[in-house]
Amino acid sequence: MINPEAAFKVVIEAHADEISWFVNYISPEGLIYVIRNGGSDQAIAPSKRVNIHTEKGIVKAVFGWPAIHTRLRSGDGKEPQPKVDNIFLDCGARSRKEVEELGIHVGCVVTFDDLFEELNYDYFICRAIDNRIGGFMIAEVARLLHENKQRLPFGLYIVNAVQEEVGLRGAEMIAKRIKPNVAIITDVTHDTTTPMINKNIEGEIKCGAGPSITYGPAVHNILRDLIIKTAKKEDIPTSCTPLAGARAQTRMRLLTRTTVPLRPSSPSPALHAHHRGDDQKGRRGKHHPPHLPDAAEHHTENQLPVPVTFW
Ligand SMILES: [Zn+2]
Repeated sequence: MINPEAAFKVVIEAHADEISWFVNYISPEGLIYVIRNGGSDQAIAPSKRVNIHTEKGIVKAVFGWPAIHTRLRSGDGKEPQPKVDNIFLDCGARSRKEVEELGIHVGCVVTFDDLFEELNYDYFICRAIDNRIGGFMIAEVARLLHENKQRLPFGLYIVNAVQEEVGLRGAEMIAKRIKPNVAIITDVTHDTTTPMINKNIEGEIKCGAGPSITYGPAVHNILRDLIIKTAKKEDIPTSCTPLAGARAQTRMRLLTRTTVPLRPSSPSPALHAHHRGDDQKGRRGKHHPPHLPDAAEHHTENQLPVPVTFW
């Protein structure tokens, strides 16, 4: 929070929560069935390792799935598809009692155990980059403001919201508690140049081609155009996309009750699956300090206060 006493309030937001699973049922044989918490994908779950979060600490487990040798021999010979009611976790326990002795109970949260790893050519993979990359972006704003000793003529609230993945509650909290005049929302979007995506429907957005800026009824035209103009002036490539998805629209609408949301987002080829992010650090060749309005009356015309290279 910077200048909390200021009447004019600007929020820059990312959401810090991630999708996961809940333990839903423990079988007498010691297998664990789960339900979704957010948009977790059963199609990628089989054979993935997980962390079960318990009061006794992390318990390791793996999503089981019949081997290729056996699964076609049962039933009608058709390939079974992973569904929430047929995927299960094996933590090594041989009975419900052994599961419970590890501290696991119905309601425990389960996350994939993927860690941060660098790929090649400035790319990386990690879990929950949706939307920790946004959290990194807004943290960079705070760092650059501090290092460049920038003074702001407005109140700046740097918010890592929670519960976005499960009903957009974070946006609601911001709208009700902070009551900002302007909100700039960061999130990730899809790299639509990856296979099996229809560009006629999803548009063309590509990792490395700069941030994607959203058009839509809930986005303030003047502020969005200011961001696009500023990016052009600063030689930052951008792409544009019409409002992405009903959830994003709802999130914006929630904020729109009191604010003017914008949504710069960074493309990622596989959201809610294996996240492959695009680290464009250094690609622009120079690292700009923040550009800020020099007078309070320019509030609605302030330039994008975030020079972070992801945008
Ligand atoms: Zn997100």
